[in-house]
Amino acid sequence: MSDAAPVASGATPPPATETGPAPASVWRALASVVDPEIPFVSIVELGIVRGVERDRDGWTITLTPTYSGCPATRVIEEDVRAAVLAVTGAQARIVTALAPAWSTEWIAPEARRKLRDAGIAPPHPVGSAAASAPRTIAFHRAVPVRCPRCGSTRTRELARFGSTACKAQYRCADCLEPFDYFKPH
Ligand SMILES: [Zn+2]
Repeated sequence: MSDAAPVASGATPPPATETGPAPASVWRALASVVDPEIPFVSIVELGIVRGVERDRDGWTITLTPTYSGCPATRVIEEDVRAAVLAVTGAQARIVTALAPAWSTEWIAPEARRKLRDAGIAPPHPVGSAAASAPRTIAFHRAVPVRCPRCGSTRTRELARFGSTACKAQYRCADCLEPFDYFKPH
């Protein structure tokens, strides 16, 4: 409709790709956003952030929630919008990617250490010796969850759901401490 408009009218906004913050600074900003259920681990370390892209209209952040229906998801989205706005001055568009589903495999090694330090047993890695051993249900059930406090494998599940739906509650038979186990998923 404005075919006849002068090209150099000055109405064209500066190309977003030439100025403004780089994706790396957005990633850094997102590294300050935490999962409210695990407030010491960032959503980047958890593998929730799947993509940071910039286009003409602004920023698109792709997230894969850890557990669908997790009430933390809304909080995380609001925090992501605030973080992107703070560093870019632009609104973020949030895309939720449900396939492939989030896996505890995506949790960074550093985050596993933080979980352990916080008294939460990190999920068994799917590629671990335990998981690649003969795949019988009996064996799988026998894989012990290691106590994050004393390292003992003499632990027992008390409840399938711990402080949140993504954790099971365990107790250590050696130090007698109850602890949460981040369930593999
Ligand atoms: Zn223990």
